[in-house]
Formats: sequence, structure tokens, C-alpha cells
Amino acid sequence: MLITCLADLADKTTCPRLVIKVGSSLLVGKDGPRRAWIEALIAEIAAARTRGQDIIVVSSGAIALGAATLKLDKGGRGSLADAQAAAAVGQIALSGLWAELLAKHGLTAAQLLLTLDDLEDRRRYLNATATLTRLLDAGAVPVVNENDSVATQEIRFGDNDRLAARVAQAARASAVLLLSDVDGLYDRNPADPAAKLLPLVKGVTAEIHAMADSGSASGLGSGGMTSKLQAAEIAERAGIALVIANGTHEAPMARVMQAGIGTLFLPHPGKNGRKAAARKAWLGGRLRLKGALVIDAGAAKALDGGSSLLAMGVSQVEGEFLRGDAVAIRDGAGVVIAHGLAEYDAGECAALIGKHSRDHADLLGYAPRSAIVHRDQLVLL
Ligand code: GLU
Repeated sequence: MLITCLADLADKTTCPRLVIKVGSSLLVGKDGPRRAWIEALIAEIAAARTRGQDIIVVSSGAIALGAATLKLDKGGRGSLADAQAAAAVGQIALSGLWAELLAKHGLTAAQLLLTLDDLEDRRRYLNATATLTRLLDAGAVPVVNENDSVATQEIRFGDNDRLAARVAQAARASAVLLLSDVDGLYDRNPADPAAKLLPLVKGVTAEIHAMADSGSASGLGSGGMTSKLQAAEIAERAGIALVIANGTHEAPMARVMQAGIGTLFLPHPGKNGRKAAARKAWLGGRLRLKGALVIDAGAAKALDGGSSLLAMGVSQVEGEFLRGDAVAIRDGAGVVIAHGLAEYDAGECAALIGKHSRDHADLLGYAPRSAIVHRDQLVLL
């Protein structure tokens, strides 16, 4: 079921998995972490978990926190070296804070430091997906930030908006909630008394970009509308809903989901109107086939039933591909029945095919993956 209104974000059927991005200015004030506000947000996160929703947090604030500790001026953003040093110091406090306050609700925090490259490179994308999925299955709350201390590009305000959209894509979330200090997207500069908040956006068009350019930007510590629209575009293409909402109020999630205040960007419905179709189109867009796997009748039947491709059911490996490359999956008669991203390179596949999963660790000499092609990275044709 697709998300069509803000209330759907609180529904575990329409929104089983939600990514919440929290901006620096919400987390860190003049005197350090805004503990009471974070505690209130975590109470809302715990309530969502009780409703049966998976929550992933994307938390900014490392640079702001570290800059205060190191007494760096310009909020630690005077130079790249300052920002990277500040992040290294601040990240410890930031993760510690999330861990401590989530634990009060019996929730386990898990820290993931990613770069945008990690989520755009196919191999590392698979690793991030597997780790996030495993953490959520184990009941943890992943708390993600950009790995600022090693990011090679300039750290920009708003990087975490796009990171949140990419994380949602990797974790197959239903929606992303970007909490910052604006109510949402306005049709013109919000300082203009005639400005109206847009409750719903169907497609990030040139017209929508023009509205953001008209100065619908927020204050310090936020990436403004531009990075939020970039995030909305990533989410839209991946079939994921995205909401821009104001986090400066007490209980910001309720303000979005109950009072309905915010801008909802609808996901692209895909060719035949289903979220799955949008995901397929996105996966399909990456598919330049590097090889093929020939499978037996049992495996073909299993794939049809929605299972992953296991090594047991593969009889032949063709081509030179790397982990994360797209491969064709053919049946014995030569009919291509699926495309998918390989969890192993061609050599490893050749070593594993026909072998039972319990023997994989010995054959490889390291911890094996759960499948040759995971069902989430597979498109049946
Ligand atoms: N990763 C940065 C931090 O933790 C924030 C980036 C952003 O403003 O989006 O301070």
C-alpha cells in the first residue's frame, strides 16, 4: 500500500519502515545537546516501535557538538580540517547520547557512519543494505551519520538530507521524514505574507524547484530547500515517500502525523502504479549485465515464489563479474527469468555453486552471505 497522506506515516501497514533525519540545529543548541528535545523525540520513536514500525535515525550534529568541545569558531565549519576534526570529537558524544536515551526505552542504538559514496557504489551499497536489514531484524535502532572525518569532498550543510534518502533506499524504507526548522515547502519566499505551505507535491518538477529557489530556505545548520528537494528526487525515483516538516516543536512526529503539518512528496508510482514497480525500475536502471547464472528447475520455482537464489540451485557461472554487478539468471532451457545483483564475484560463485550453505564458510575461508542473489536485489522478468 502506498503512502497518500501524512497520517499514513504512523500506520505500520503503509509505513512499516521509516527513516527520520534530524538536523543539527534541532540536536545542538548554544549550550550543547538539546537533551529534553531529543528525549521527547525518542519517546515518539519508541511509540512508533511499539506500533510495529522499524525506525532508522539519520542524525546530524557531530560537527556542531565537536566544535563546541574543541572551541572552534564558525561552528567548526571554518575549514574542511576543522569540520573533520570537530566531527571526530562530536560523533562520540552524539552516538553516546542516542544510545543512552534510546536505552531508557529499552531500545538498542547501532551506529553506522557512511559516506554518500558508500551508498552509490554497488558493492558497498549491498553491505549497507545487509547490515541495516540485520540490525532492524535484531530489533536495534540504526543511528546513521555521514562519516565526516574521512569524507573526501567538502562537507556541506544538507548532505544528510540526501544521505537519508539513500539510506531509505538501501533499507527499503517506506518513507523519509526530514525534520528541520521549516514547516515544509512554500510556494514562494515564506517571508512573503501571501506564501502558502504546499501540503502535497506530486513530482519534483521545474516549477517546484523554482519555488525553493525563491528563498524558501531555513536557518543555520540546515541545508535549505535545495538539498531537501534533491533528497525528495532520490526518494521519488526509488518509490519512497518523503516529508519535510518542522522539528522545532515539542512532539514533532505527532505534529506531522496527527496535525498533518508538513509537505509530503509522493513517491513515483511506477509504470503500473505499484511501489514495487518503482523499485524494479530503479534496480532495472542499474542493470548492465556482467555475467550469467544458470539455475536448476527447483531454484527457478523458488525464485518464482519470492525466494533468494541459493548456491545449491546454481549449475553454471558465466562471465567475469564482481560483487554487486548485475547478472542474468537463466533456466536450463536458456530462458532468462530474472536479473539481479550478485552477492559474490564470479570466482567465489564458481566455488560455491551446487554446495550447501552450511559448507560455504569453509569453502570461502570467511563469513558467507545469505544467498548468491538476495531476493531484494532481484527482478523477475
Ligand atoms: N554530518 C554533519 C554533522 O554531523 C551534518 C551534515 C548536514 O548538515 O547535513 O554535523
